[in-house]
Amino acid sequence: MAQPALRLDSNVPGDFFVDSTCIDCDACRQIAPGVFLDSGEQSTVFHQPETPEELLAAQKALISCPTASIGSVLRQDMHAALEAYPELIEDDVYRCGYTAESSFGAFSYLIRRGEGNVLVDSPRFSGPLVKRIDDLGGVRRMILTHQDDVADHQKYHDRFGCERVMHRDDVRAHTAAIERKPSGKDAIELEPDLVMIPVPGHTRGHAVFLYREKFLFTGDHLAWSESRGHLYAFRSACWYSWPAQIQSMKRLLDYRFEWVLPAHGRPIHLEAAAMRVSLKRCIEWMSAP
Ligand code: SF4
Repeated sequence: MAQPALRLDSNVPGDFFVDSTCIDCDACRQIAPGVFLDSGEQSTVFHQPETPEELLAAQKALISCPTASIGSVLRQDMHAALEAYPELIEDDVYRCGYTAESSFGAFSYLIRRGEGNVLVDSPRFSGPLVKRIDDLGGVRRMILTHQDDVADHQKYHDRFGCERVMHRDDVRAHTAAIERKPSGKDAIELEPDLVMIPVPGHTRGHAVFLYREKFLFTGDHLAWSESRGHLYAFRSACWYSWPAQIQSMKRLLDYRFEWVLPAHGRPIHLEAAAMRVSLKRCIEWMSAP
């Protein structure tokens, strides 16, 4: 739990606060942008919740914070927030919340489908979330974009018996038991409407997953930049090869999608044609000297 004694001075007075254990992952600022903002190298509360909507958003940020750095002085009724995740995005795609410290607050997603649900990257293994996922039908398959965002994959596998999929080039000792480890750069049809597309760059074995030619789960390969107004990639957090990541980005021009749903960075929803324009802009930006 967040410690009042560690409350950052930058928080405005009132109930909610961020303490000095914040790792600046951005999760709270995405979940409750009306309450939290970036105060440099950490988040802070700039506005105390006043409406029911703001209160619920702040509570969802509190339970999703990977380091339990968000606190509340008052005793909160957290029932609605605990019931809120997985949270519907569109169609049958949900955001999980409950981020994990080991994946630096990365977001993960759930695809709810009759053939069996698919978890995209791993959320924290937290009781309320696990129960809700169980209520929604459990997990048949877990698809992992890359080695950094595997979090509690083993616990989800043990609980739901899901098959895990991750590119062989990103498998490490703690993921050696993953059931399916494709290799190479060719796209792989995991299911008729779910394609794994290897995109080396951020890591050597990074992959993105395209669902129904609409939702692209991009891990740490691609996200939306609010300040630039176009898609972008994390050059300062490219661990394998920036030139390879540019080539991988160009390969995404072969695909149609309307949503970019990243692990880190901001999501975006655009018409497919506008998404393609933004992807081209991203490639130009990445290729600039
Ligand atoms: S979610 Fe937690 S760790 Fe992440 S930026 Fe907010 S307070 Fe900091």
